[in-house]
Amino acid sequence: MSPQRQFAHGLFVGANVLMAALYVAFGTESHWPGAETQAAEPPALPPTPAQTLWRQFEPSDALGNIAYLCWEVGPRPAGSAAERQAAAYLARELADLGYIVAVQRGITLGKAGQSTANVVGLAPGAGRKPRIVVGAHYDTVSPAVQGANDNASGVAVVLEVASLLVKQSLPYAIQVVFFGAEERSPGGESLVGSRHFARRCAGSAVAMINVDMVGCGTDLHVWQYGARSRYLAGLVARSAAALGLSVAASGHSADSDHASFARAAIPSIWLQSLPDPRNHTSADQAQRISVRSLERAGRLLLHTLTSLQAEDVRLLQKRCGSQAKAARYCGR
Ligand SMILES: [Zn+2]
Repeated sequence: MSPQRQFAHGLFVGANVLMAALYVAFGTESHWPGAETQAAEPPALPPTPAQTLWRQFEPSDALGNIAYLCWEVGPRPAGSAAERQAAAYLARELADLGYIVAVQRGITLGKAGQSTANVVGLAPGAGRKPRIVVGAHYDTVSPAVQGANDNASGVAVVLEVASLLVKQSLPYAIQVVFFGAEERSPGGESLVGSRHFARRCAGSAVAMINVDMVGCGTDLHVWQYGARSRYLAGLVARSAAALGLSVAASGHSADSDHASFARAAIPSIWLQSLPDPRNHTSADQAQRISVRSLERAGRLLLHTLTSLQAEDVRLLQKRCGSQAKAARYCGR
């Protein structure tokens, strides 16, 4: 566990100790969560852990990673030393969680001597299972922007979800990818890291969920790009309904990394929370991140990923085009 996560856990434990002390001092049961749950009837059998995993999403852990990326690493424009520092940090975090990590370095940015990298983590025991890619970009739009919401928020939510899923038995293997150079690079291109991965390395991926800008705003959006993503968007909508979350009917957008996968004939969606009036400005700082927004996105992502049945995976696989099937697998 990183120092940031330890710090966040320390705060959490400290708060619980304080609540316990208050309970002992004042004896007011209503201040102690769960004190009134002593029912006369036997409790219902607990559901299997995977079905309730979404409850364990911990936004304070995600906040710790956002603070680290914004305050310790700082702005992370494509091709910069800070972008490389962020990649190294994310690779260490994924390895610490138990993922098999590979860093795809040397992805050229169209300007001499500048390159970016993707950080790829595969859950252990993947074998020949079909893969679902869960991704987020870690670069920022400029050297003047911390990129708290765009997109430390997505990176942090994906890391927290990855930590909860690593030991789960699922009908697919989860593959986490942190993309470099999503924003416009020095060479004038965008979606550089995701395009590199999707074109060359997407073999056996049956779907991709992109998490970009989920730390502000009240309205969850699920963007598609191309008709082959409709079933995947429906699965997310199914989980949103189960959680009582409203999700905007968002239509189509090609403005983030999911589009690279859609172009490679892989069902893919983009999870985003809006509005964010300070996007791509120097005001995109860590202190404006909303715990509630992180929690909403994290729970929806976890619920979706843990609700997928083998039949869903098969139907997603059917929707992959020949381009996707032709791509080889790399990153292990
Ligand atoms: Zn973004």
